Amino acid sequence: MRKHIFGPVPSRRLGLSLGVDLTPTKTCTFDCLYCQLPQTRFHTSERQTFCNPDEVLSELKGVLADITKTDWITFSGTGEPTLSKDLGYMIAETKKITDTPICVITNSSLIHLPEVREALLMADKVLPTISSVYEKTWQTIHNPAANLKLKDVLEGLRIFTKAHKGASEAEIFVCPGLNDTNEELKSLSDYINSTGLTSIYLNTAVRIPLRKDIIRTATPEELEEYKKKLEVQIPVSTAFEHMQVPKNESKSKKPLEETDITKLILRHPSSDEQMARVFGVSKEEIAKITIGLKQKDLIEQDPKSGYWALKN
Ligand code: SF4
Repeated sequence: MRKHIFGPVPSRRLGLSLGVDLTPTKTCTFDCLYCQLPQTRFHTSERQTFCNPDEVLSELKGVLADITKTDWITFSGTGEPTLSKDLGYMIAETKKITDTPICVITNSSLIHLPEVREALLMADKVLPTISSVYEKTWQTIHNPAANLKLKDVLEGLRIFTKAHKGASEAEIFVCPGLNDTNEELKSLSDYINSTGLTSIYLNTAVRIPLRKDIIRTATPEELEEYKKKLEVQIPVSTAFEHMQVPKNESKSKKPLEETDITKLILRHPSSDEQMARVFGVSKEEIAKITIGLKQKDLIEQDPKSGYWALKN
């Protein structure tokens, strides 16, 4: 049974992405208001070895032999991948077993550490998050672990993006009322123009956020307005331009199991329809499994969006 590898799942920004999760569920330096996962269980900024990297590599080799296609191998998952001390080793070793490009999705919180930058420099693409250049806003949105400071993150991200040969696309998570004032946008634009970032992706809470009492989804018009006000010289796209989840063209030789569904919705709460696209099967086939999991009281469905999520 797979422990660390999930997918490949169709991703709005990456096409088909095979995920590698190096941290235990919800181990993160942040506890973001907009997170689509349950509250952070291990809130830490201490880098550690969480799993045996050679075991993960052997699982990865097995999955690569089983699937027919993936566009990216992506280090991400249910927490912050740079918390893993083994990230650099994993990227280097993965490059030895496949030509598939490697991406890391990071919240940027540890990018001030030279050893984290060194690991990230090996990735073909890095997707860092930066949602504000104001300490107070950053603290409010992300609830970082106690010793983390935004000024270190900003400087680390600047150094990294200038040195990185691959693509670095920053995600700005737009939280209406929190980080969308003219002052926020002006300062963020100035900062972005001082980095080597190659593009910007404006995201918003398209799935149910952790603090739905505070976080509201920005409308397509609000994201367009934000985009217009961002005075940067690099391409900017929005979540609504990437709404359609691409079809999964990768086939596994194994039949779909309950754990394939639970592993996906642990990371991405999804509807039957979305999962049918992800796994390349019919909606009815997915519904048979989700109904079974519901009867076992393992998952629940949001009545408004139809998204399934694991029961806490
Ligand atoms: S959104 Fe990402 S960075 Fe924020 S708490 Fe969730 S997993 Fe951590």
